[in-house]
Amino acid sequence: MTQQAQHSRTTPDVVVIGGGIVGLACAWSALRDGATVTVVDRDFEGDRTSHGNAGGIAVTESTPISVNGLYMKAIKWLFDPLGPLSLDWKHLPAALPWFLEFQRTGNEERFKEISFALAKLNNRVYDDIVPMFEDIGVMDSFYRRGALTIYETDEAFAADQHEWAFKRELGVRWRAMTADEVRECEPSLAPVFRHGVFLDDWAHIGDPKRVVIQLRNRVRELGAQFVEGSVKALDLSDGLAQSAVLATGEPIKGRRIIVATGAWSAEIAATVGDHVLLDSERGYNTTLPSHGISLSREVIFAERKFVATPLDIGVRIGGAAEFAGLKAPPNYKRSDALLALGKRFLPGINDAGAVKWMGHRPATPDSLPVIGQSPRASNVIYAFGHGHLGLTQSATTGALVADLLAGRTPGISLEPYSIKRFRN
Ligand SMILES: Cc1cc2nc3c(=O)[nH]c(=O)nc-3n(C[C@H](O)[C@H](O)[C@H](O)COP(=O)(O)OP(=O)(O)OC[C@H]3O[C@@H](n4cnc5c(N)ncnc54)[C@H](O)[C@@H]3O)c2cc1C
Repeated sequence: MTQQAQHSRTTPDVVVIGGGIVGLACAWSALRDGATVTVVDRDFEGDRTSHGNAGGIAVTESTPISVNGLYMKAIKWLFDPLGPLSLDWKHLPAALPWFLEFQRTGNEERFKEISFALAKLNNRVYDDIVPMFEDIGVMDSFYRRGALTIYETDEAFAADQHEWAFKRELGVRWRAMTADEVRECEPSLAPVFRHGVFLDDWAHIGDPKRVVIQLRNRVRELGAQFVEGSVKALDLSDGLAQSAVLATGEPIKGRRIIVATGAWSAEIAATVGDHVLLDSERGYNTTLPSHGISLSREVIFAERKFVATPLDIGVRIGGAAEFAGLKAPPNYKRSDALLALGKRFLPGINDAGAVKWMGHRPATPDSLPVIGQSPRASNVIYAFGHGHLGLTQSATTGALVADLLAGRTPGISLEPYSIKRFRN
């Protein structure tokens, strides 16, 4: 029987599994190409990574997390229980292959390769995201005011110069600022910062959750069907996924299936035999609705590894990388530790009504997302693993996936993002 004959007339062209920012952006792009789309999520209204992130359109972040020398720093951080990095030792056996691969990506050649691949995505972000933001009506809270990275010490600033110079090669625009310029740029900062780097092309949005809701509403308006249910497997036969099978056993049929389930994607890929190294890099933040300070743009505290973003709903202070898997309960002491730093460096900030949050960054060891066709099921397309940059790269991922669905040659080669890089 042909694939055509196996599907009924009502079978949608595309089933998107995952209603976070990435899945919805894929659905939006496919709908704009005229496809019929079904979106499946186990909980459309529930909290998710895409709701609570820092809101940064961080297009200048084109180097992987595995910067040279990070491994040594990381070992030191692991001994600080509330430092920027933590590991639940019970999670170590499961995470070990991820960490070993992470270490391998730190070598100079691979570091450069990854950086150019990240830059290829980041350098086209505004071409893709602005039309999406216009269409869903969130341009009123899209702030293109740059971002400011700040340094407390001359040593840390000097140590990063190599990376800043390399970032210029990647197309990143930045300019160094003196201590006085930093103070003039963001007067609410404590007067302890000796250097700054202004990042012209960074932007932020007023509320990541509002963007998800508006995008979801627009996807529905464009005709997508929504199915609430947890997908447990893809049903593979003759090299094609016939359906996404829910935990209830119900099959959700589609001609193409997009897996966009963020940090939960490895399990679904495994059901067609595709292997990926994906872990949850859990991040924390606190949002301060009555902060009482003035902040114009996202500020990145270089040595302390946290950020503060002036969202419409309050100043959000967050960061941290915690490896504890998908099931361990949040340790909100991390939000408290980040807030304590925020109070120290943004003196006078008011924490009345503070809201704490934890989210699962879908992290690959090489910091590259997984975008492209499954080698085992030709009608399955992966769109996950965006780590720190899922909001930033959402519309670009959607546009690339739409190219694949429509049979167009994507504007950039998808080779670096293929799941095949994980020994498939
Ligand atoms: C503290 C923090 C700050 C961040 N800051 C930024 C930032 O400033 N800029 C930026 O670009 N990115 C940032 N990120 C990263 C960004 O939030 C993520 O990369 C992005 O949200 C991932 O989106 P997603 O759609 O892939 O995953 P998610 O938002 O997690 O969505 C996945 C969806 O899949 C559904 N799902 C999972 N499994 C199943 C299943 N089996 N069946 C059905 N449905 C399923 C879930 O319910 C969920 O709705 C940050 C992340 C954190 C944690």
